[in-house]
Amino acid sequence: MQNLPDRPQPRPGILAIDAYVPGKSAAPAGVKLHKLSSNETPLGASPAAIAAFKHSADHLELYPDGAATALRQALAARYGLDAGRIVCGSGSDEILSLITNAYIGPGDEGIFTAHGFLVYKIAIMAAGGTPIVAPETNLTSNVDAILACVTPRTKIVYLANPNNPTGTYIPYDEVKRLHAALPRNVILVLDAAYAEYVRRNDYASGIELVSTSENVIMTRTFSKIYGLALLRLGWCYGPAGIIDALNRIRGPFNVNGPAIAAGIAALQDENHLAKTLAHNDHWLPWLEREISALGISVTPSVGNFLLMHFPKTLGKTAREADLFLSSRGLVLRAVGAYGLPDALRLTIGSEEANLLVVNALRDFMAGA
Ligand SMILES: *Cc1c(COP(=O)(O)O)cnc(C)c1O
Repeated sequence: MQNLPDRPQPRPGILAIDAYVPGKSAAPAGVKLHKLSSNETPLGASPAAIAAFKHSADHLELYPDGAATALRQALAARYGLDAGRIVCGSGSDEILSLITNAYIGPGDEGIFTAHGFLVYKIAIMAAGGTPIVAPETNLTSNVDAILACVTPRTKIVYLANPNNPTGTYIPYDEVKRLHAALPRNVILVLDAAYAEYVRRNDYASGIELVSTSENVIMTRTFSKIYGLALLRLGWCYGPAGIIDALNRIRGPFNVNGPAIAAGIAALQDENHLAKTLAHNDHWLPWLEREISALGISVTPSVGNFLLMHFPKTLGKTAREADLFLSSRGLVLRAVGAYGLPDALRLTIGSEEANLLVVNALRDFMAGA
């Protein structure tokens, strides 16, 4: 026993992981906070979802349905899917971890793009695998660059479409071209967390590709347009083989009852969904226009957030802008961890917050 370490040691690689840092949520004392750092909806959840959540408080002693059957059936009905090929999770983050743990181990590789969602890298490393970063073109996923990273060790390709934090997307034809060129043993994960926000004819979340192949899985979330981030609720639609693997390793009650109840109610409230989408349809282009007019370049976004750039040539840094906005209670997301130290991500907020952001940026650029 002499050569054993004197305390427990995590598996190799665990201590090399940089923990995920969520968006900030604090304003200076006495200043109203506008949290624009985590792509949450300013319209809140559907009143029906809130009522369903409250109703479930009467029986906190009961275990939930471990298979989330009613929610899977509601999702299946809503999207025309087979409920047997849906798995729900505690946020889509959990689903991403489940997929990774089921298919990646030491020596295996997972590919994601240069400014892709950071949860992929954490999940790959936590599973003992090797993260492989594919370069992007104009802050947009590049199918050929992803394919150039594929090796016999590749097990999963993660594609956030649209991507966070860039807000860019690739057309469905490109997704299909990527899938067609991947070896059949490689899983293509289509992370469609912002699918409901996209207003482009050439976009699709990937449902058809999942239905017609054995190696594509789509993940979705209730955290964004449905406004249920606090409850942690996500889901995936995949081929029978992958779904079977996920069901074997997930926690037996991985989704809580209030989340199931609220999720079902949220799905049925199409009116609230339409209102939330209309809000974004109005304010996303407005913010893009107003901020660009101030001389700050903005990456065109199809999500509920946008990326602003503060290159050296501007003479003002992203960090200075972040501090200035924070002092007015406008809390954005610094994205240095995404390899974008000169950028800030802004979530589309309430009318009040959006107007304040543009006014604050105007003052910032004027040197006030
Ligand atoms: C927000 C987000 C998710 C969803 O996370 P949840 O765990 O469902 O809250 C997944 N992928 C991307 C790209 C996101 O931005």
